[in-house]
Amino acid sequence: MLLKTYKKRLIWGYISVFGAALSALAIPKVLGTSVNRVLESGEQDVTQLYPLAIVLLLAGTARGLFAFWQTFLAESTSQMVAYDLRNSYFARLQHLSFGFHDNQMTGALMSRATADVEGVRMFVNMGAIRFGFVVVMVLGIAVAMLLTDVKLALVSLAFVPILGWRAMTVSRKLRLAWMHVQELIADLVTVLQENLSGIRVVKAFAAEEYEKEKFEAESGGLAEETYRAERLWAMNFAIMNFSFIAMITLILWIGGLEVNAGKSVIDGQVVYSGLTPGDLTAFIFYMGLLALPVRMTGFLVNAFSRAASSGERIFEILDAESPVNERPGARSLGRVAGHVAFENVSFSYDGGRPVLKNISVAIQPGQIVALLGRPGSGKTTFVHLLSRYYDVTSGRVTIDGTDVRDMLLTSLRDNIGLVQQDVFIHTATVRNNIAYGAVDASLQKVVEMAKIAQIHEFIATLPDGYDSLVGERGVGLSGGQKQRLSIARTLMRDPPILVLDDSTSSVDAHTERLIQDAMEVVIKRRTTFIITHRLSALRGADTILVFKDGEIVERGTHEELLGQGGEYREIYELQLLPGVGAGHKGTATGSDRRLE
Ligand code: ADP
Repeated sequence: MLLKTYKKRLIWGYISVFGAALSALAIPKVLGTSVNRVLESGEQDVTQLYPLAIVLLLAGTARGLFAFWQTFLAESTSQMVAYDLRNSYFARLQHLSFGFHDNQMTGALMSRATADVEGVRMFVNMGAIRFGFVVVMVLGIAVAMLLTDVKLALVSLAFVPILGWRAMTVSRKLRLAWMHVQELIADLVTVLQENLSGIRVVKAFAAEEYEKEKFEAESGGLAEETYRAERLWAMNFAIMNFSFIAMITLILWIGGLEVNAGKSVIDGQVVYSGLTPGDLTAFIFYMGLLALPVRMTGFLVNAFSRAASSGERIFEILDAESPVNERPGARSLGRVAGHVAFENVSFSYDGGRPVLKNISVAIQPGQIVALLGRPGSGKTTFVHLLSRYYDVTSGRVTIDGTDVRDMLLTSLRDNIGLVQQDVFIHTATVRNNIAYGAVDASLQKVVEMAKIAQIHEFIATLPDGYDSLVGERGVGLSGGQKQRLSIARTLMRDPPILVLDDSTSSVDAHTERLIQDAMEVVIKRRTTFIITHRLSALRGADTILVFKDGEIVERGTHEELLGQGGEYREIYELQLLPGVGAGHKGTATGSDRRLE
């Protein structure tokens, strides 16, 4: 299907295949004729060899040019296919929903983008163009051999299927071995990746030795398997070479006998009635030519089957249905007012255990809704359903009365700003991190938002200010700084609906104050959902939703809920009340206390 785009290139590829094959076939013929001429003419007269030499040069040049053109086309076309494939693959990954990514291993997705794309590329390179070369060469050589001498041709061609078959079986074994090597590499990468992203945990638990051993075991397995594959390859190379030399020896022997049998001396001149020495020479060269395509059969069969499995894996992703799709006729709502409603919403991640059960809430624009509950009670899932990272199992979620499934995903997500706990910082400047997704935003606006988010002062202390590099290769940021940066990033988009995840941060009193100040400004005029255990935020909320085992067990304002004496009051007395809650080492200030 992809190949259609490259039809023209393929046609040129095949033309050069023919050219290369024909000029390659011409060379032995010319050499053979030259040998005969030399033998016929004696030593004195070499002039008649000149035209032959010129033909030989021309054939050699043509062969070189065609071979160059063929290789160039094969390589460049395959790179183009790989480029397109890689980009579509990446684009697809961007659009697949959380539900899809939950079930995939990062290492496996990465190896598809690299190893599998390479597999398909090799197929286009080897398979589509060079396969033509192999077929044309084998047929051409067979015809040329038969025209030269039927008996010798039959003897040597008899070996072709045997050698071809051997090349294929060895190739299959090699492929399996290399595939295993690939898998081991993927395993090794996974160990490395997990180690590097979790290096702090490794150090905190002094698990360096354990990690080293784990890595060495993987690495040892890889080295062993690679060694085995290399040995198989080297052995096969030697055996194939030997087989060809043996074949040539056999042909020389049979051919030599034949030449001698037909040789007679008439008037002092040597005359050959059957096979001439030139024919035999040409034949030997034909056999030399045959070695390449026969060997290539093995590679080709290999490339075909590898491409089949690689292609399958890539298309599995390219054709994957995202669990979250836009319905036909989905529309953009523009900037919404901010009515949010959950109507009898139930949800389960795996289709089994319900994580949210029959949730119904209706929120007016500009209201502040605090979500409270023990870890695992379903608060994060609730906000994920709002942003449609997952789709409800039953019931519906609406914004301004429209089912979120009837909104364009971009429109939906433009309207919802998310400030997460675990903020991802890109390796880029502070400015670009804040203006993420809005690259053309002015510096003035970025600074303005940074000021509101209480991060401006910190940025001003960095050596390059807003142009300082942060992220993996830049300045390290603390949890609180990341959170404020994320607030600034969200503010840039000025979303009418805001989701703040403030559930697990543990920061010092000063930072806490900063974050709180930032949040107070941010939530004005927006429908806000805030996951929090901060008493001040709970007090300021218009409604508190108390989650327990996937249900909203209580709802109301701080005062109302306290009065009810239920779950909220219990949490309040145990963990929120000023002065209670063991284990808070000076992180809480005054009335601000946290659960975790
Ligand atoms: P909270 O935010 O209140 O801590 P969550 O909404 O994160 O709770 O989790 C609710 C339940 O759903 C938990 O039992 C959790 O194990 C489960 N859960 C959360 N995320 C996933 C996921 N991606 N796949 C499967 N189960 C999940």
